[in-house]
Amino acid sequence: MIERRRTRVVKVGSLALGGANPIRVQSMTNTDTRNVAATVAQIRQLEETGCELVRVAVPDMEAAAKLGEIKRQIAIPLVADIHYNHKLALRALEEGVDKLRLNPGNIAKREHLEEIVRAARDRGVPIRVGVNSGSLPQEILAKYEGPTPEGLVEAALREIEILEANGFFEIVVSLKASEVLLMIEAYRLFAKERDYPLHLGVTEAGGGDAGIVKSALGIGTLLQEGLGDTIRVSLTGDPVREVEVAYEILKALGLRRRGVEIVSCPTCGRTLIDLERLAAEVRARLRGLTLPIKVALMGCPVNGLGEAGRADVGLVGSRGGGTLYLRGKMVKRVPEAEIVDELVALVLHYDEARS
Ligand code: SF4
Repeated sequence: MIERRRTRVVKVGSLALGGANPIRVQSMTNTDTRNVAATVAQIRQLEETGCELVRVAVPDMEAAAKLGEIKRQIAIPLVADIHYNHKLALRALEEGVDKLRLNPGNIAKREHLEEIVRAARDRGVPIRVGVNSGSLPQEILAKYEGPTPEGLVEAALREIEILEANGFFEIVVSLKASEVLLMIEAYRLFAKERDYPLHLGVTEAGGGDAGIVKSALGIGTLLQEGLGDTIRVSLTGDPVREVEVAYEILKALGLRRRGVEIVSCPTCGRTLIDLERLAAEVRARLRGLTLPIKVALMGCPVNGLGEAGRADVGLVGSRGGGTLYLRGKMVKRVPEAEIVDELVALVLHYDEARS
């Protein structure tokens, strides 16, 4: 059981983040924000997958001007990602965004940052101070001879101190790096300094297996230590995948349960059915379910009986077919060609019975 560090609670629209609230899953669109229809369509897909807050890039005033239109068509809080131009942040606030993400050092003039802080405070909108190892201020890079955990923390604290000096405490912090160990150490160091909620992420993690492994290690290590209040898995490509992977990380650590958790054996020389194909079909057919259900798919009775018995729904392969289990009790034996249909029906029935 993981004991979480108690952080300050920050409200992002109607969503509470930090404290004892569940670890929130978030993502970022990769559509052109000026294209409202495409951006809203992607956000709705993310919502369906379980995304709880979504960030959009605001590269120019045309994009900033579309934020209100986007917000009116979505159900989850909207976060504006701002770099360089403080006027984009002010416009985003006017458009009603629920949170701003600012990169320390990117809003060069202190008075511009203070203007943003005043406007955010008036509207009750929190700010994420989002440090990134790839865009640390020059003087910090020079002082620490490159990106270091201490440099990331100092960059965050410099900006946070300006916010605090203006009576602003609705702050979320991220200290992302593409190197896993650097990112882990930066968050650990920061957690000793302030109790603001932490947004965890490994930036530019890449795509495919490498990106997933890096995110799982970086985010997972910190979560296991009790750190982290919201997570974003950064993967090259469709952001829906980011949300799916985020839930897998949280499920693996027992921090959140959502949708079907599939346990399937790795297969070996004893495997009696085509488990790889069956697992892929079952996964695809059960994708949209939100109620947490554990499904165990096992290739033979060796470990199968134990795993299938502990799952909500289980399958144990045998020659030419398999035996289905429901909460530890044997239901029936079915031929291999009928396994997927029968198992999916059992899961859907279980889902209905619990909802
Ligand atoms: S459950 Fe059976 S088939 Fe699957 S890996 Fe274990 S021994 Fe092999």
